[in-house]
Amino acid sequence: MTLEDLHHALSACRRCADAGYFIGSTPIFTLNAGAVFMTVGQAPGRHEAEVTHKPFSGPAGKRLFRWLAEAGFDEDAFRATQAMTAITLCYPGPHPSGRGDRVPTWAEQKLCAPWLDGVLAQVNPRVLIPIGGLAISRFLSDPRNRVSPRNRVSMTDLIGEQFESDGRIVVPLPHPSGASQWFNVPANKIRLARALAILAELRNSHS
Ligand code: SF4
Repeated sequence: MTLEDLHHALSACRRCADAGYFIGSTPIFTLNAGAVFMTVGQAPGRHEAEVTHKPFSGPAGKRLFRWLAEAGFDEDAFRATQAMTAITLCYPGPHPSGRGDRVPTWAEQKLCAPWLDGVLAQVNPRVLIPIGGLAISRFLSDPRNRVSPRNRVSMTDLIGEQFESDGRIVVPLPHPSGASQWFNVPANKIRLARALAILAELRNSHS
């Protein structure tokens, strides 16, 4: 399957709706041949679903790209040359409480997991940037249970470090939305700065 084939097949995916799960958009992702860096979020948000149809393009995305700018990445260039995907690629709708977005269920994550595997195989990015606890768990927990809901990892322990997973470099970032309390801890600001410094080094070594 070529990247173009994958793009078409993924764009047409309705697995969740067919299985009876709510989805609030078509799949939202960015794939570029030769991408070295790939962000992996939790799922698209409402702004992405209803306005832009581009990953990380709402308020959380603005914050993410402010961070990436500190590591030397230009947003337009990143979108045009790198890859951006998520644990589930369709908007899961609002949280029942009315605050924020619904976290994709375990069943939805499993339905979408083969797409992420397919993207990894086809795009073959050297550096993964999982954003937020769900995506971090996907790459930095026991691979035998890597999408198990019982196997979540502590984000705080991992931000600011560089890891390897299946031959790829993994640099986790906190999710830019809903992490305000996390950022209030001075040690966490240092962790984020360390993570961005790692990404800056990787960017320099791959440019
Ligand atoms: S979330 Fe993933 S598996 Fe579910 S419909 Fe969207 S692309 Fe398909």
